[in-house]
Amino acid sequence: MRRRLVVGNWKMNGGLAANARLLGRLASEWAGAQSRELAVCVPAPYLAQAQATLTGSAVAWGAQDVSEHRQGAYTGDVSASMVAEFGCRYAIVGHSERRQLHGETDSVVGAKARAALDAALVPIACLGETLAERERGETGAVIGRQAAALIAALGADLARIVVAYEPVWAIGTGRTASPDQAQAVHAALRAQLAAAGGANVPLLYGGSVKAANAAALFAMPDIDGGLVGGASLDADEFLTIARA
Ligand code: PEP
Repeated sequence: MRRRLVVGNWKMNGGLAANARLLGRLASEWAGAQSRELAVCVPAPYLAQAQATLTGSAVAWGAQDVSEHRQGAYTGDVSASMVAEFGCRYAIVGHSERRQLHGETDSVVGAKARAALDAALVPIACLGETLAERERGETGAVIGRQAAALIAALGADLARIVVAYEPVWAIGTGRTASPDQAQAVHAALRAQLAAAGGANVPLLYGGSVKAANAAALFAMPDIDGGLVGGASLDADEFLTIARA
């Protein structure tokens, strides 16, 4: 059975009082169902709050990044084993904001996915092309290169991850890939991952997903759910997306 998953990425947003309201509503209103999962990836300082509020609910939680290193002199970084101690199921790795603002390369993203797996977390590895790359007709080559790096880093463990296709031009811009545009990339990704043993890897779409467009995106044959940024900060909007 296909695994359906909707994950919220709060980015650098939140505060104890607002988090308590949002997490409380998700915990009480998301009933969950087999093969249909909801999760939130919160800033690292709020992992303890997510754990305290969501334990016993059907909502999972995770981190937005982990270090590729296990421990040591990496001031400001947070290791996968540290976030795992707060009950995380997931860790986003390779988000385009990390790639663009922090210079993360394909090989760093592969190492982060490996570090997450070694700490018993499920990495949600993000891939995506920029607008310039799409306009030059390079979408397939860029996604293929990013996926190949993950395949090389993970080998047989590829089957244990989640992959999110997030066109950079659609993140936080209000501009969503059309269901057909997203499906075309997902189908190619599915074939590439399947050839490497990852046929059942859940493939999420991310980029301005909202209540109004989620159902059409999630109806596509190779889109298994969504990675949701801005809209995950609003309980009504996020729950509507999760139910789509
Ligand atoms: C994201 O941060 O992963 C994302 C897709 O953001 P948004 O939904 O706001 O475009």
